[in-house]
Amino acid sequence: MHDRIQPHSTVVVIGAGMSGLSSARALHDAGYQVTIFEGRDRIGGRIRTTRDLSTPVDLGAGWVHGEVDNPLTDLAEKYGAKLFKTEMNNIAGLGKNGTDLTDGMLELASRAYEIMAREPSNKDSKSLGQFVRDELGSLNAEQTRMLNGFLGAQGGFWGSNSLNEIDRFQLNQEKTFEGYDWRFLNGYDTIIRGLAEGLDIRLGAAVTTVDWSGPTNRVETKQGVYEAEHVIVSAPVAVLRQGGIRFTPDLPSTHETAIQELAVGLSEKLVLRFQKPFWPEAAHVLVRASDDGNFPLMFNNHYPSSGDAFLTIRVLGDRVPHWTTLDQSSAVAEAMKMLKNTFGSDIPNPTAALQSDWYRNPFSQGGYSTNHIDVPSYEHRAQLAKPVSPGLQFVGEHTEPDYFATVHGAYLSGQRAATFVTSANRQDA
Ligand SMILES: Cc1cc2nc3c(=O)[nH]c(=O)nc-3n(C[C@H](O)[C@H](O)[C@H](O)COP(=O)(O)OP(=O)(O)OC[C@H]3O[C@@H](n4cnc5c(N)ncnc54)[C@H](O)[C@@H]3O)c2cc1C
Repeated sequence: MHDRIQPHSTVVVIGAGMSGLSSARALHDAGYQVTIFEGRDRIGGRIRTTRDLSTPVDLGAGWVHGEVDNPLTDLAEKYGAKLFKTEMNNIAGLGKNGTDLTDGMLELASRAYEIMAREPSNKDSKSLGQFVRDELGSLNAEQTRMLNGFLGAQGGFWGSNSLNEIDRFQLNQEKTFEGYDWRFLNGYDTIIRGLAEGLDIRLGAAVTTVDWSGPTNRVETKQGVYEAEHVIVSAPVAVLRQGGIRFTPDLPSTHETAIQELAVGLSEKLVLRFQKPFWPEAAHVLVRASDDGNFPLMFNNHYPSSGDAFLTIRVLGDRVPHWTTLDQSSAVAEAMKMLKNTFGSDIPNPTAALQSDWYRNPFSQGGYSTNHIDVPSYEHRAQLAKPVSPGLQFVGEHTEPDYFATVHGAYLSGQRAATFVTSANRQDA
């Protein structure tokens, strides 16, 4: 195969997250001369494993969603990942003072789930949140309060600030892989490091300009100027929207509109380490019914997987901007207020904490793309998947119409771009 590649076929990949590494790995292995420029001083992008506590902890992506036909399953096996199966039905629902959720709350939640799962036959103007409210009919004040907490938590999980913003028709277009959700016991970055092995990666090398006006592309970075026949841009859509990379000439209006309009939801994590659990030890996930309406409602319990008394608290949606102004001790204090409200005032303080900041980091500026009711998200992602020119393409979760907002979507987008480069060169040869 290599003899059919044009001599000196050079590729610049911007960003060493999953999508960038996916295309770089494929093209490097096919004989291309690939250089990756990464703005941060680490690889992985929105996959970030820290080993500052006794056990690896993921502050970005945590799960492989579904194992059947998921390309990540093969990567996990190839690179020696140790996976833990999360049973999403092993949930402890918590009411006030650590009590189980009331039957009323459980019944309301299961009715809401049933309504959310209904397949829309065509696009209507209702958001998912509105649809659930309308179908549930009249509720008393207590039920309304519970429903608001429930919808708030669910909205965040779909990357949106609220279910009232989510387009139920577009949400239904997302494809998923069958099977369980798996967490990495030795860190999500196991597969990142595996993919990156032997690649030419320049860290701390933010790209400022891509000039695609000539026969080859000119890429300006903080470490100098490079020329390449192919440029693959994996910067998140929120970064592109803020003008994080300047394109000369301007991008076509179709791509530019997609970049400007595609919505991005906010998602952060706070990991707290305790000496021992004071919560239901065996539950894989804890869900708390909100009674203050302003704090995250879902936690991952690490105890069943690693024996560590860690809780990962998810902070989602419109709570994030305030949250990320807090320094770590203030964030922990807010979290402890909520935990005391839930489990009682005599619970111990954490012995360590770790906090993510995807929103304020200039190389992410948010969580992941979402399906806003007012935006043709599927079409925008499909547009971004189309090459801008024979030598310029975008990759990333935001360019994957079917599997957006996920690590597997990012991986698949990188494979798509690599295939375009190799097939373009074959046609030219
Ligand atoms: C809190 C959180 C939890 C999540 N949980 C899950 C989960 O459980 N399962 C799941 O499948 N997905 C999850 N996701 C989503 C998943 O992390 C992303 O969809 C995926 O990692 C995105 O990969 P990417 O390659 O598209 O982008 P990124 O990983 O963001 O990679 C883009 C890279 O480009 C770099 N970059 C940006 N600008 C420049 C520049 N100017 N010059 C050079 N480099 C630049 C960035 O530093 C970054 O390394 C989660 C995300 C978050 C934030």
